[in-house]
Amino acid sequence: MSETYGTPTISSELGRSPEAAVDRNYYSRGGFVPPLPAIDGVEVQGLVRSFGSPLFVFSEHDMREKARRARDAFGSRYKKTSFAWSYKTNYLNAVCQIFHSEGWQAEVVSQFEYEKARKLGIAGKDIIFNGPHKTRDTLERALSDGAVVQIDNWDELNVIEDIVARFKKPAQVGIRTWFDCGIRPIWTKFGFALANGEAARAAIRVVKNPKLVLHTLHTHIGTYILLPEAYRLAAQNLVALREQILLDSNHLVPCLNLGGGFPSYSLLHGMPRPAEHVIKPVEEYADAITGVLNKLPEKKRPLLRLELGRHLVDEAGYLLTTVVATKGHDRPPPASTDLSARAAKEWQIMQEDSKRGLVIDAGINFLYTAAWFEIGVWPSRLVNSQTTPTRLYGDLCMAIDVVRETVDLPMLDVGDVLTLHPVGAYNLAQSMQFIDYRPAVVLINRDGKPELIRRREVLEDINGPELLPAHLAPRA
Ligand SMILES: *Cc1c(COP(=O)(O)O)cnc(C)c1O
Repeated sequence: MSETYGTPTISSELGRSPEAAVDRNYYSRGGFVPPLPAIDGVEVQGLVRSFGSPLFVFSEHDMREKARRARDAFGSRYKKTSFAWSYKTNYLNAVCQIFHSEGWQAEVVSQFEYEKARKLGIAGKDIIFNGPHKTRDTLERALSDGAVVQIDNWDELNVIEDIVARFKKPAQVGIRTWFDCGIRPIWTKFGFALANGEAARAAIRVVKNPKLVLHTLHTHIGTYILLPEAYRLAAQNLVALREQILLDSNHLVPCLNLGGGFPSYSLLHGMPRPAEHVIKPVEEYADAITGVLNKLPEKKRPLLRLELGRHLVDEAGYLLTTVVATKGHDRPPPASTDLSARAAKEWQIMQEDSKRGLVIDAGINFLYTAAWFEIGVWPSRLVNSQTTPTRLYGDLCMAIDVVRETVDLPMLDVGDVLTLHPVGAYNLAQSMQFIDYRPAVVLINRDGKPELIRRREVLEDINGPELLPAHLAPRA
């Protein structure tokens, strides 16, 4: 055994990504990681000085650009398109209002989200109500407000029929469907199956009910769908179901809703970079869907509705964090040249496990999607040093709190500001308060000015709903 020939080891990263092989080579790596000094012209370090760290930052410009590009992509191919913003993807009021001001309706999936939309002044008729559990009270309210309730299952249909029996005017509903359009896993949890005729039976039951109007046939085939062609199949399936309903009961369903799921320019762990090579532009999704609808005779063309989330907001969101500690610097190679095979292997494993680590002041409690997505990491300044494979630790007392298992970074110090991006979709809505206050959120507005849109949490936000029995009250 000599130092120049070590026992081959299979690292946990090898084989997962073409770049992982490069990670093993400390000497032929690019020596430069481009910094991200500013967001929409506003200095990252200045944002942290003014608003604290960690800090979520959203770009109003980016959200509006994405919304307009999607609208143009569809609108230029198919006039009768309408859009709804998926609240659960990010329900900050400022974010919802940006999309509403671009003409997007609200797509909500729960009582909480329904109330949020109404509180923002969105009329019932501009709300699409999805979700596998809608409480009876909320259903009653939504149906009488004129929202389109998209029915998920037979039990919900029973409740709705019971509610509308007392209505004077009929209420609008949609039928949610699922089917195989080439995407795995198939989301069988939501809606009625197409293949076994359930969806058609539910639709016809609705059509026959004089207190209901079947407004929409809906499907939401998944999220982060990389194949535009899947939407062509989905559109064909909904068109075929609509034909079947027309033949059976002489009702032409006015609206087809293709849900959401268009990807953002983010990457799953192990995917080859750059994202632009993997992710198709929104225009290809528009081609796939409108290609089907434009084949219909003009008079028969439905209103096309989309419920987009991730695609519109992911890249608009950044999380600014600060390095609070550095860990596990490279160990020097063992001095001995006659290590046993076992000792050599152990040394290599230790070397790998103890790779350089940075602890940042935000954890996976704010970055739920880090489990699937390889979130990009950008230093805020140019550091002139060799890059090193680095593990990025969050600040939680949990071993699984790792934001990136391996990311090439230069030698950074405590106090360095790092930007994680893209993080705008789902992370905030899914965030947990766990051991920390949730960070403040800043919007870089249309004029390039940063504005606070959610303050950092304080103790009272967390203690507020708690009640302390008298015998447990703290002594004065
Ligand atoms: C979550 C959801 C969306 C939005 O999904 P994205 O993948 O973020 O675009 C749309 N429709 C329904 C019914 C949803 O549940």
